[in-house]
Amino acid sequence: MIIVLRLGHRRERDKRLSTHVGLTARAFGADKIVYSGEKDSSLLSSVKRVAKRWGGSFQVCYEKGWRNFLQKKKNEGFKVIHLTMYGEDFGKTIKKLKGDLLLVVGGPKVPGDLYGTADFNVSVGNQPHSEVAALALVLDRVVDWQHKKFPDAELEVKPCQKGKLIVKR
Ligand code: SAM
Repeated sequence: MIIVLRLGHRRERDKRLSTHVGLTARAFGADKIVYSGEKDSSLLSSVKRVAKRWGGSFQVCYEKGWRNFLQKKKNEGFKVIHLTMYGEDFGKTIKKLKGDLLLVVGGPKVPGDLYGTADFNVSVGNQPHSEVAALALVLDRVVDWQHKKFPDAELEVKPCQKGKLIVKR
């Protein structure tokens, strides 16, 4: 199982970015997104709505106490991978990874203790960029997302060279 934990959501400023973190997690094969920071019901419902329309069993939830959540997952055997520009090259770490993963991405300021609690602090290059980009690249290495199925979708894209073709079920 792959869970993405997105820290430090701010209702007013991060709505779009946090939505994209959730949609990226889902599209590239994570099983669940957990938001922390400010509780934002409209964020949760908009990611849930997309997940329902486009199929699959992606879960969306909020955790106020991310430290307790992270420790609980560690106790269950999850490896905690913190994505940060200060970490070691993710390519090296990814090779060692097996089993359940908790991928943690930050927001405005990542609390310092996370660096110690995480099993691995990994970077996708050592330049500052975005949680969406970092997450997509890491998931690309750990999930065979091209073959992922999204059962019970209400909407499905039929790829075509020109225009848009969407099938409604
Ligand atoms: N200044 C923040 C801090 O204290 O770390 C970083 C904020 S950055 C805009 C938001 C998130 O994007 C980070 O917490 C991290 O998860 C992700 N991120 C940005 N650049 C990254 C990189 N080069 N490698 C891995 N993750 C990165």
